[in-house]
Amino acid sequence: PVHRTTEVQEARLRLPILAEEQQVMETINENPIVIVAGETGSGKTTQLPQFLYEAGYAQHKMIGVTEPRRVAAIAMSKRVAHEMNLPESEVSYLIRFEGNVTPATRIKFMTDGVLLKEIETDFLLSKYSVIILDEAHERSVYTDILVGLLSRIVPLRHKRGQPLKLIIMSATLRVTDFTENSRLFKIPPPLLKVEARQFPVTIHFQKRTPEDYVAEAYRKTLKIHNQLPEGGILIFVTGQQEVNQLVRKLRRTFPYHPPTKDVAKKSEIEQEATEETKDDVAETAEDPKEQEFDMKRVIRNIRKSKKKFLAQIALPKINLDDYKLPGDDTEADMHEQQDEEEEQEDDDELGLEEESGMASGQRQPLWVLPLYSLLSSEKQNRIFQPVPEGCRLCVVSTNVAETSLTIPHIKYVVDCGRQKTRLYDKLTGVSAFVVTYTSKASADQRSGRAGRISAGHCYRLYSSAVYNDCFEDFSQPDIQKKPVEDLMLQMRCMGIDRVVHFPFPSPPDQVQLQAAERRLTVLGALEASTNSEKTDLPPAVTRLGQVISRFPVAPRFGKMLALSHQQNLLPYTVCLVAALSVQEVLIETGVQRDEDVAPGANRFHRKRQSWAASGNYQLLGDPMVLLRAVGAAEYAGSQGRLPEFCATNGLRQKAVSEVRKLRVQLTNEINLNVSDVELGVDPELKPPTDAQARFLRQILLAGMGDRVARKVPLADIADKEERRRLKYAYHCADMEEPAFLHVSSVLRQKSPEWVVYQEAYELQNGDSTKMFIRGITAIE
Ligand code: ADP
Ligand code: MG
Repeated sequence: PVHRTTEVQEARLRLPILAEEQQVMETINENPIVIVAGETGSGKTTQLPQFLYEAGYAQHKMIGVTEPRRVAAIAMSKRVAHEMNLPESEVSYLIRFEGNVTPATRIKFMTDGVLLKEIETDFLLSKYSVIILDEAHERSVYTDILVGLLSRIVPLRHKRGQPLKLIIMSATLRVTDFTENSRLFKIPPPLLKVEARQFPVTIHFQKRTPEDYVAEAYRKTLKIHNQLPEGGILIFVTGQQEVNQLVRKLRRTFPYHPPTKDVAKKSEIEQEATEETKDDVAETAEDPKEQEFDMKRVIRNIRKSKKKFLAQIALPKINLDDYKLPGDDTEADMHEQQDEEEEQEDDDELGLEEESGMASGQRQPLWVLPLYSLLSSEKQNRIFQPVPEGCRLCVVSTNVAETSLTIPHIKYVVDCGRQKTRLYDKLTGVSAFVVTYTSKASADQRSGRAGRISAGHCYRLYSSAVYNDCFEDFSQPDIQKKPVEDLMLQMRCMGIDRVVHFPFPSPPDQVQLQAAERRLTVLGALEASTNSEKTDLPPAVTRLGQVISRFPVAPRFGKMLALSHQQNLLPYTVCLVAALSVQEVLIETGVQRDEDVAPGANRFHRKRQSWAASGNYQLLGDPMVLLRAVGAAEYAGSQGRLPEFCATNGLRQKAVSEVRKLRVQLTNEINLNVSDVELGVDPELKPPTDAQARFLRQILLAGMGDRVARKVPLADIADKEERRRLKYAYHCADMEEPAFLHVSSVLRQKSPEWVVYQEAYELQNGDSTKMFIRGITAIE
């Protein structure tokens, strides 16, 4: 029996799903696979695990719930533990770097990547009685794979007399990919729809679609707050940096002065504001999977194929250079004042004359809260806490608030209509973060957030023509967008030979699968098939491939680890791979800007240069800098001086601790899997010897064999201007246009003939674009 507090009990009774408990449980008891679709906020995630628990599903085995976002896994486990009055040792979570799972855990929230890893060692998921795949509509790669795998595991468990229930939960969109897919489920599973009470939401389109949607969001919020009655405001922008920028501006405009006894709280808020300022330079990805597996860095390239795609959807000009320095708001402020005057003209735009009897220019304080994936869970939790007396709630969020977390008391939604997406080049795997329009489905989800407590309003910062013509109906499933080599390898190692025939809810592109196979063959993870005509079996996984797949990093990094079992190199490779897998360890203000920013623009440049001063250190180049930086940071950390060290040397402190976690994890993995080593994570990792640095270069080359570039020979070029233009130009495999050594590289001065690079990306500069390579190591 569960003992809930009266407060919790009352809150639960207000959730639509509670009225349907009996029907939901009957359907689940009678069917092995059930699909539950319901509006965001209807109580699916928090209540269904409780129904199952109370029906006895946690008695002998666990109830497992997967979330595509780490945020949700943590927040939901905490909420459910609280509602059920159970300790976190029983309602727990597990994400890649952390968790509170114990042998006593009954309900386990985890990211989808975590469950996928578990299937590798326990194919039948024998510890679970039920698996709930939550947020299936998000169509994350891992959830899609899990759906396919579980469609086969469920019948197998049934055959063994140990039935496993599968519940696929989704917002009310595109459920047919699961229900009407006979390759996936021969018998279509029953669909339960939870009807949430939804009040009408009036949609207001904008006449024009402004490019600077952050400024527009600010102005719209100002108007709403000044003119419209009570009710929370939820603003959707695309990323952490935009969230922080807007939060700061709004707090400045409508400051909240707590009663004097609340001084502690106030200083906490002020302190937080400065922390966030610091974070601004280090914009990070929203997509949780990037942190799970292929954690690359921030700015990426938009290759040719993508440009076409972007042109099709009529994208506004993307400003990848918009990385303002802390405190650098003045210019934007000036622009906005001008815009403000201009805007007076079309003023009935709130579309609410009848209600707007409120005096304008009121100075009611606004309680402004940020929300994005990488925000600490304590700060995230503030959206659920009571708003201070006399304030209006205003949450500025990325698309985390679209379906993963339901924010209470929202009456107004301001939707910029964009999201940050990572686009990949199918052939090269080069990726770019771009801001694109969301889908119609997402826009509708966002506006729906305004209708939970009463009739609401959604202000779309774009025109209805843009919505009709430029928004896709649904966003494409991730699996059809991403390079799939790590999944390919993982699936192959699980014994799935014909990945091509796997029952995906939506199969990935053939081109992509073939590209993945090719890259894995180049890496030596798959056998090079010499007699492919004789047999149509795909090339077998090599021993190296098996080893690679055991490491929780991208295959190319796995290979580097696998090759490091010599010369006492493992501690260095582990550190390097960890550092290369985490985004933005070194703060690179120059990276997002044009290459012609002088090196001095990054005041840390000289120090970095000295970290890779001579000999093989220098040839190892930028990875050497990373290695020394992390090594020195670790040491400073062991002396309790990490924050100062990071500040003076331009390291992102959060990244340093991520690197550490990953180092520990990789080290444990190696100790478990490789019999004759006993690695530790030495806080005082000495710089490698010259010989070791040489081996490290070879190992990097082995992992990055497809990322080799050769200097454009300048001697052949007669034209002087052209010679100057191509001074730092390199030819890369697979790319037509030359790429330029980025100014942040410590090897730029030297410009070696042959190099390997960590990534290639493209920057837009007005109408033209330019390719850059960075993370440079010299071969020779
Ligand atoms: P769904 O999964 O159907 O979108 P949820 O189960 O996530 O719905 O949310 C149900 C309700 O629980 C929402 O009204 C939400 O605001 C509330 N809720 C979720 N987490 C918390 C929390 N930590 N504190 C207070 N209320 C919460
Ligand atoms: Mg949910």
